[in-house]
Amino acid sequence: MLRKILIANRGEIAVRIIRACTEMGIRSVAIYSDADRCSLHVKKADEAYSLGADPLAGYLNVHRIVNLAVATGCDAIHPGYGFLSENPELAEACMRRGIKFIGPTAEVIQRMGDKTAAREAMRAAGLPVTPGSEGNLENLEQGIELAEQLGYPVMLKATSGGGGRGIRRCDNTEDLKKNYQRVISEATKAFGRADVFIEKCIVNPKHIEVQILADEHGNAIHLYERDCSIQRRNQKLIEIAPSPQLDEAQRQYIGGLSVIAAKAVNYTNAGTVEFLLDDDGRFYFMEMNTRVQVEHTISEAITGVDIVEEQIRVAAGLPLRYKQDYIKRRGYAIQFRINAEDPKNNFLPSFGRISRYYAPGGPGVRTDSAIYTGYVVPPHYDSMLAKVIVWALTWEDVVTRGERTLKDMGLYGIRTTIPYYLEILKHPVFRSGEFNTGFVEENPGLVDYSTKRRPEHLAAALAVAMAAHAGL
Ligand code: ADP
Ligand code: ADP
Ligand code: MG
Repeated sequence: MLRKILIANRGEIAVRIIRACTEMGIRSVAIYSDADRCSLHVKKADEAYSLGADPLAGYLNVHRIVNLAVATGCDAIHPGYGFLSENPELAEACMRRGIKFIGPTAEVIQRMGDKTAAREAMRAAGLPVTPGSEGNLENLEQGIELAEQLGYPVMLKATSGGGGRGIRRCDNTEDLKKNYQRVISEATKAFGRADVFIEKCIVNPKHIEVQILADEHGNAIHLYERDCSIQRRNQKLIEIAPSPQLDEAQRQYIGGLSVIAAKAVNYTNAGTVEFLLDDDGRFYFMEMNTRVQVEHTISEAITGVDIVEEQIRVAAGLPLRYKQDYIKRRGYAIQFRINAEDPKNNFLPSFGRISRYYAPGGPGVRTDSAIYTGYVVPPHYDSMLAKVIVWALTWEDVVTRGERTLKDMGLYGIRTTIPYYLEILKHPVFRSGEFNTGFVEENPGLVDYSTKRRPEHLAAALAVAMAAHAGL
């Protein structure tokens, strides 16, 4: 078994990984920027090392992180999600230095992180793939030609995109011309690669994804699906497991298909295969995420499998503990991403001091977060503060439990998306369990958009947050 793990991440996912380490008797090593020195992951880890003043550079510095792991006697690195988690260079550097990377091999990360290469691999494995480019676009003219063949609307996507960024819907040639350079420059800035491709836009699809676990001995299983159709700007807000929109035959089909996908690319460790489901009940492979996902929690809730613990066991070379038919699912789980954003002000980020916080509790409730009373939300990172996960036996009950739990939670001093989620939970379409990725946009009435956008608010909030930091 591994003895000591460096966690190359911050916030709630770092805390989540430390919890798994503690239960497994493994020592944990945290890293942190100056902005994070009061962060919970720093307090909870057995050891913690500063990466200096820059809020991001340290978390993204492959060599520094690997050197630190070697110097502190770690035998593995867990990358969490975001940051370096899908960067093949970290996996590669780990291998060279005799450190185990907790995730798939560098080759698999490289291949599946490239959306066009992943589409190609999945097409070869016999999966249904969203119709679109065979490779990356060579130029705008090729894009226009292809879009005409596919028929509008189409999606223009960054090949190395992630986190809902670098994606634009184009309804006609004009849109495509307008967005082409925009997506390229967005992709170059955010992902360091200019490649883009086109796929057919599935209008108002459901986002269905399957959790996979695979070991280094050729075994692969799935932990059923999650429904992530409640999104805003291609970013997930609320996730549900299993999907209330699938029947049992569809569930078995998509689970089996995902295991085939994992085996086809010799996948190891935890991963997610993402699909779109159209109105005619057809599934299309969209992409694969080669890491633990933000919403892994709800698969844990319905199956009882600790996904992070399995990741560590697999990395230690152990075979999977469970065969597919051992994986039973029970009830429904919902995860709410509690973001520091003001839903009444166009989801403007909100920073500053959390004056009072208490996590919700009671039956069927789990909170994963790295916040506490007095914690100052820094402006440099992702706005997700906490994940609230609720579980109940039936869909109706889990919705009711969600409402009770969000009302139970106390989070003061900054704006959050909690009031927005309470509105969604009341919505008859949500309650019916039949929704698609258009839900948020089709229901602008959920929030008061009449409130004017106030960009100066952002600057003011930033100044307050910086001042609070300086004074710590
Ligand atoms: P999930 O796919 O687990 O639901 P998200 O898509 O929300 O999660 O991404 C998880 C985190 O990783 C977010 O903070 C997001 O901003 C970040 N992220 C995802 N992909 C990338 C990428 N290619 N480059 C940079 N950040 C990314
Ligand atoms: P990311 O890497 O940012 O997660 P994805 O390729 O997974 O990007 O797409 C994110 C979201 O964008 C999807 O969940 C879906 O809502 C939307 N989307 C992506 N591709 C399509 C498509 N071809 N048709 C319709 N919606 C799409
Ligand atoms: Mg995705």
